[in-house]
Amino acid sequence: MSQNFRMSYLKNVKDCKACMVREECREPVPGEGDFNSKLVFVGRNPGEEEDLQGHPFVGAAGKVLNRMLRLLELERENVFITNLYLCHSKLNRLPMREEAGMCIKKFLRPTLLDIKPKVVVTFGETTNYYLCGLKSITKHSAMLFDHNDGFTVVPSIHPAAVCYDPSKWAMLEKVIDSIKFALR
Ligand code: URA
Repeated sequence: MSQNFRMSYLKNVKDCKACMVREECREPVPGEGDFNSKLVFVGRNPGEEEDLQGHPFVGAAGKVLNRMLRLLELERENVFITNLYLCHSKLNRLPMREEAGMCIKKFLRPTLLDIKPKVVVTFGETTNYYLCGLKSITKHSAMLFDHNDGFTVVPSIHPAAVCYDPSKWAMLEKVIDSIKFALR
């Protein structure tokens, strides 16, 4: 990321009042990590713990993401971790189309265009739908898709799914293999 974009990104995220989800959270949670990384992970939106701590993927799903990173031999600092939309929503409700659209336009797309990653991992059905237009995450998890913005998308089941059903870890192992293949 260019220095200017990075500096205004943090302030613009913190100051954002563009949609109603902002009223449901403590503060928007900016993406974080290596602004020059080849690999970006995109979740849906911050959960309760992320809202409290102000960082993405620091709750239960974050522990599963950390386990994935260990198998990729990467630290959190080596990748960029962000969300489709940056505010925690009450009862984790799904975003309305305008809310998701607004956050993608204001933050996610400019961030990805600036980082220019090689690979973007889309966690969960909603994120994958908004980035790739694909409806079923279980059907497409671990496949590879070329995105118009110049990166490869690896759709993935959400790490939170493994917290509820540990047998789903096998699906994340396939995602890890696809990430390694796409980064080669
Ligand atoms: N789930 C997400 O999709 N994003 C987070 O940051 C945390 C949990």
